[in-house]
Amino acid sequence: MAYTTPSVEEYKAGAVVKYAPISTGQTNQRKRKPHILAVINESCTGCSGSPACVEYCPVAECMYWAPDEDHPPFGRIIVDPLLCIGCKLCCSRGPDGIFLEGCPWGAIDMVPLAEFEANNGALPF
Ligand code: SF4
Ligand code: SF4
Repeated sequence: MAYTTPSVEEYKAGAVVKYAPISTGQTNQRKRKPHILAVINESCTGCSGSPACVEYCPVAECMYWAPDEDHPPFGRIIVDPLLCIGCKLCCSRGPDGIFLEGCPWGAIDMVPLAEFEANNGALPF
């Protein structure tokens, strides 16, 4: 599978194209950096085009679909690190509202801010 996870710089530049399914909700900029951020790892299957996680995210355009251009119609979900508020709602419920300890495929990691910034560069806010 070929995916390109955008860099923090690309998000800052507003250069990231986001596809649906995409989260909806609050649109105001977060007031402070979150202590933890959701990061989607390589185990994400995209839930066959019906992502179980996206509908639980309360932030507009935070979770979005990224198509696998080498293997259409497959794809996966990515989290915008400038928008995530670290609320963990995306990994607390599974398909049909069943409570789970994480996504059905273990594809959502809650990463401490310091670890994220060490690997990806500092977030602007
Ligand atoms: S629930 Fe998990 S596997 Fe499904 S789209 Fe979300 S992160 Fe990917
Ligand atoms: S932790 Fe909250 S804000 Fe971040 S991706 Fe999950 S649901 Fe959205």
